[in-house]
Amino acid sequence: MKNELKNYCSSLHIEDVGIAAIGPYNELAERWRQRLNKGHVTGFEEKDFERRIDPQLTLDNAQSVIVCLFPYFSGRNGDSNLSKSSITIDYHLVVQNKLELIGKFLKNKITGFEYKAFVDNGPLADRYLAYLSGLGYFGINSHIFADKYGSYVYIGYIINNHPFEPDKPLDKTCKQCGNCIRNCPGNAILGNFDINPLLCRSFITQKKGELLEDEINIIKKSPLIFGCDICQDVCPHNKAVPNTPIREFTENIVHKINNKEIKEISNKEFKRRYGNRSFSWRGKGILQRNFELINRDKNHT
Ligand code: SF4
Ligand code: SF4
Repeated sequence: MKNELKNYCSSLHIEDVGIAAIGPYNELAERWRQRLNKGHVTGFEEKDFERRIDPQLTLDNAQSVIVCLFPYFSGRNGDSNLSKSSITIDYHLVVQNKLELIGKFLKNKITGFEYKAFVDNGPLADRYLAYLSGLGYFGINSHIFADKYGSYVYIGYIINNHPFEPDKPLDKTCKQCGNCIRNCPGNAILGNFDINPLLCRSFITQKKGELLEDEINIIKKSPLIFGCDICQDVCPHNKAVPNTPIREFTENIVHKINNKEIKEISNKEFKRRYGNRSFSWRGKGILQRNFELINRDKNHT
């Protein structure tokens, strides 16, 4: 059945599919406890500690977790003001759709098959699952790196009640060159394969409410009004990655949002134009704020 699963995924241009054992994930629990103790959490994470480490608390009788990588690199554009993961139709929509196709395929093949599929919106730690299922290895910047597509990959997973045979984690890490640490605008990369997400520019560009002076300074260090790609762009593992084979991540690309346009349109119109893009989820005010901060000391708006 695992081969059938892989073949089906391949027909959807998903090349990296692995199986994570069912847990509970005690190693992750320890890391997560340390993060909580340090206060290194954004509030976007699953709040129920046990659910975060035990898939069976999300699906009764869960027996394995299918993990898939979705590469999204489609070239570099020096003029972009959006991070690479936000230039196309919202990847949550694209990935969720493909995970549901896989779930339906397996439902047709396996009697009594049950599943729950997630991309970013689930209780488990998706990067840990990708590591556990042997699809990639951790970088110092805390990203998961796949041999072929580097760290420009989204991770989707399907908790399910079929006992697929688990894969083994890869016995390697990134080159540990330190480029990401030296170039991170927030000094968020701790050097122990973990980051302080509260200092991560990507998080701060999505943060609502008043920003601290330090956060403003971090935002001003890059021209992107949404997200941050620096620790991935400077990584040698990402130097020669091929473009994604997934069509949805190569079309309808918007590299740049115009501040004048954002200022002039209503919230409703913003939603109509950009509601299916990941950069829109916090509203247009956040983008405008970031744009203005980045350009505050410059002569143009
Ligand atoms: S930039 Fe260097 S240290 Fe950072 S993740 Fe890549 S290889 Fe590792
Ligand atoms: S995304 Fe940007 S701010 Fe966040 S850890 Fe990477 S380089 Fe630092």
